[in-house]
Amino acid sequence: MTPVVVVGAGPVGLSAALALRAHGLPVLLLEADPEDRERPGSRALFVHRETLALLDGMRPGLAEQITSYGRTWHTRRTLYRGREVYSRTFPPPSGRPPFTSLRQVDTERFLREACAAAGVEFAWNARVIGVRTTATDVSLSCADGRELTCGYVIAADGARSAVRAGLGIPMEGTHGEGFHVVVDVADRPGAELPLERVFHYEHPAVGGRTVLRVPFTGGFQVDLQCHADDRTEEYGTEDAVRRWLPGVVGEGYADRILWVSTYRFLRKVAASFTDPHRRVLLAGEAAHLFPPFGARGMNSGIADAAAAADAVAAAAADAVAAAAADAVAQGTVADFAAVRRAAALFNSEAAGAALDHLRPRRRIVRLRQRAAAALAPVLPSCGSWLEHAPYGPRGGAPALAGRKY
Ligand SMILES: Cc1cc2nc3c(=O)[nH]c(=O)nc-3n(C[C@H](O)[C@H](O)[C@H](O)COP(=O)(O)OP(=O)(O)OC[C@H]3O[C@@H](n4cnc5c(N)ncnc54)[C@H](O)[C@@H]3O)c2cc1C
Repeated sequence: MTPVVVVGAGPVGLSAALALRAHGLPVLLLEADPEDRERPGSRALFVHRETLALLDGMRPGLAEQITSYGRTWHTRRTLYRGREVYSRTFPPPSGRPPFTSLRQVDTERFLREACAAAGVEFAWNARVIGVRTTATDVSLSCADGRELTCGYVIAADGARSAVRAGLGIPMEGTHGEGFHVVVDVADRPGAELPLERVFHYEHPAVGGRTVLRVPFTGGFQVDLQCHADDRTEEYGTEDAVRRWLPGVVGEGYADRILWVSTYRFLRKVAASFTDPHRRVLLAGEAAHLFPPFGARGMNSGIADAAAAADAVAAAAADAVAAAAADAVAQGTVADFAAVRRAAALFNSEAAGAALDHLRPRRRIVRLRQRAAAALAPVLPSCGSWLEHAPYGPRGGAPALAGRKY
C-alpha cells in the first residue's frame, strides 16, 4: 500500500503521522531539516485538555506521559500598574488536568518518540519544493531530486508552507502593529518562582509595557508587549533583555536566559484547506496563523491533524471499496476542509478580540481597563474581566478540537 505522505515534522505533522498510524495506514514523513536539528525557542507551552484527549486517541498513554512531564499551575494572578486586581487559586482537579505546560521542543520530543514506536517512516533533509495533484494522486518533488507519488498528502510544513504555495492557495487576513519579545528563562534551582501564571498590565518596571509570565517545566516564559514605535535593539536583543528582566522577575536570571525571540502578530487563514482534486489537506500553521494569546496555534493544529487523518482514512477506505466511491472520498476531504477552516476562522476572530483588548485601538478601551482596575477591590467582576479578556472569548474549546469524523 502506498504510504500517506506528511510534510513537516513540527507538532502538527508529527500528530498527523501518529493519527494516520492509529488508523493502520503506512506513513512517510518528509522533513526539510536534518534529524539532529535544534528547534528554536519554546513557542507553544500550553497544551489543552482537549488536545491531550486527541493525542491519547492517537497513542494510548501519550497524554499521561506528557502531563506527568508538564506543569499545571493552580494560581492565576493579574496586576495593573503594580497593583494586584485578581488572584485565584483553584483546587487541583481529579483526573486529567485541564492543561499542561511544557516547552514545544519537549512536546515534539514525546511526539517523535511516539511516531518512531508506531512505525512512522521519517525522511530527514527532504525539503519539498514542488507539488502537483490530479484526480487520482499527488506528486511531490524534493530539493534533493527525490520524486514521490502518493494518494494523499497532509501538508504541515508551517507558516511558509511550500506545499500551500505550490498549490497557489493564498493566506487571507491581517497583521497587527508592534512586536512582542518572548524570553525563555530557566529556573534557579532551589529558588523557583511560585508556580502561577501572572499577567501584568502596564508594568511600571518596563515603562508601562504589558507583561505575561507563564511557567513551564524547568523555567518560565516572559512575553513583553512592546509599543508600536519601540525598536528591537531596545527590548528584543539578549543584552536588552538582561537590562529589563530584573525589573520583571527579580535579580539572578541574567545567566539563566535560554532563548530570546521577537515576533509580530499575524491573523491569517488559508483561502482553502485543500486543493481542487481533494488530494492535499493543509494543517497547522500551513493553514492558519494566530497571535499566541489563547494558545490556539498548536492546539488547533493538532485538532486539524486528527481531523485530516480521519478524513484520509475514510477517503482511502471509500476508494478501496469501489471506484465509484471517489466522489464520496472527495466529499470527505471537502468536509474536512470546510470544518477545519470554519474552526480557524473562529479562532482567528477570538484571537482578534484578545488583541483588541491587549492593543486597544480606541482610547475608550484603555479607559475601561483603567476604570476596571480602580473598581476591582470593591467589584471582583472587574478584576475577573481584566483577568480573562486577554485570552479572547470563552467557548473556543470545541473549535480548537472540533472535528466531524
Ligand atoms: C511565542 C509563541 C508562543 C506560542 N504559544 C503557543 C501556545 O501556548 N499554544 C499553542 O497552541 N500555540 C502556540 N504558539 C504557536 C505554535 O508554536 C505553532 O502553532 C506551532 O509551532 C505550529 O506547528 P506546525 O507543526 O504547524 O508548524 P511548525 O512548528 O512551523 O513546523 C513545520 C515543520 O515543517 C518543516 N518544513 C518547512 N518547510 C518544509 C518543506 N518545504 N519541506 C519539508 N518540511 C518543511 C519545518 O522544518 C518544521 O519542522 C506559539 C507561537 C509563538 C511564536
